[in-house]
Amino acid sequence: MKRYSAFAIARQALNGHQGWSRAWAAAQPKKKYDVIIVGAGGHGLATAFYLGKNFGIKNVAILEKGWLGGGNTGRNTTIIRSNYLQDPSAAIYEKARSLYETMSQDLNYNVMFSPRGVMMLAQTEHEVRGYKRTAAANAFQGVQTEFIGPQRVKELCPIMNIDGPRYPVLGALWQARGGTARHDAVAWGYARACSDMGMDIIQQCEVTGVRSEGGKVVGVDTSKGAIDCDKLAMVVAGHCSDLAHKAGFRLPVESVALQALVSEPIKPCMDVVVMANTVHGYMSQSDKGEMVIGGGTDAFNNYTQRGSFHHIEETVRALVETFPMISRLKMLRQWGGIVDVTGDRSPILSKTPVEGVFVNCGWGTGGFKAIPGSGWGMAELVAKGQSPLTDAFGLNRFTEGRFIDESVAAGVAH
Ligand SMILES: Cc1cc2nc3c(=O)[nH]c(=O)nc-3n(C[C@H](O)[C@H](O)[C@H](O)COP(=O)(O)OP(=O)(O)OC[C@H]3O[C@@H](n4cnc5c(N)ncnc54)[C@H](O)[C@@H]3O)c2cc1C
Repeated sequence: MKRYSAFAIARQALNGHQGWSRAWAAAQPKKKYDVIIVGAGGHGLATAFYLGKNFGIKNVAILEKGWLGGGNTGRNTTIIRSNYLQDPSAAIYEKARSLYETMSQDLNYNVMFSPRGVMMLAQTEHEVRGYKRTAAANAFQGVQTEFIGPQRVKELCPIMNIDGPRYPVLGALWQARGGTARHDAVAWGYARACSDMGMDIIQQCEVTGVRSEGGKVVGVDTSKGAIDCDKLAMVVAGHCSDLAHKAGFRLPVESVALQALVSEPIKPCMDVVVMANTVHGYMSQSDKGEMVIGGGTDAFNNYTQRGSFHHIEETVRALVETFPMISRLKMLRQWGGIVDVTGDRSPILSKTPVEGVFVNCGWGTGGFKAIPGSGWGMAELVAKGQSPLTDAFGLNRFTEGRFIDESVAAGVAH
């Protein structure tokens, strides 16, 4: 595959850009693979990439029932941060954040990582105490965050009204190296690199059954026929319970719709990401100028990938208090994704009761930021049966009562 570079663009310009090859090949299923990954979202593709890069396992198929990146990976608000409270979370999210720093170079694909800084507003005394505690924990974990006062918040984000009316800004947890990246590009970059390693990305291929013999996986049934494999990784986010059911076990996960919306594009007015958890809303400005606004999850379990009017009203009403200037903006689009939420708001990266079947799910409202770290750890788990990054996130934590409680860090949808 040709490398992307300034010279390549100049060369292609001379022949009318006719010489570019496809970013990834359109593959048909082979009879058997060493590893099958179900789900061509960011986590599935990153798992495949690090299986090839770190462990030399390249006889891999990634099966996707729709189109690559068409699930939550292409529907999120792209916030990247690692300011979590518990040690295992800080480890995997910080690994991911640090991999984002060099992802464009590693994949030779511009993912537009923008470490513009993320702040989580403290608008009650309870939040002030909570975020000071997280900043202290982060210092021990080697994650660079700090608690900043209201004046510094105003300097960093002048369009904010820090005086109220209901909830004055009392400070914020600030992570200067947090930020955003282009979500589609993350999926496309990993896909191109996987295809380049000879892996098969098979779209429009739904896994309809999991076949096992003597308690060990032997293959899957799909809408394109049966395919055999030695190992199977299920990385299907909101559809994980459904797929686990097909494999014969249950997961402690609920699926709900999470929504977001964007405004018309306006001139640059906000160069940080702000999350306001008390009033419940978060906002950043895209490179095109749109204000990207995240809302909450539906209050009932469902599989609907669409937005709803009451969420627009609820989210925008909350944000207008802190950002009065958005009251005059027109909203352009809204959408939804199906997120997979666990009781302790932490993900599951685990072996399962079926030998050779691994599961990666439960990222809920905040898994985009984790994609490279999750892929790194999941690849090690699949290749070696164990990974220090994923050890704490096993399914056994729910039976052993070892919860990784991130309900504060992940309490707002982001
Ligand atoms: C509105 C919204 C805003 C968000 N904002 C943020 C944010 O700002 N920051 C952040 O970190 N996270 C955010 N998230 C969460 C983040 O998007 C997800 O956690 C992450 O993208 C999950 O990636 P994934 O690869 O696990 O799943 P997905 O990208 O959903 O990929 C799973 C794939 O599996 C496929 N699939 C399902 N069943 C089958 C089957 N039987 N056979 C074959 N394929 C199948 C699906 O079609 C899908 O493409 C947000 C989510 C939403 C919906």
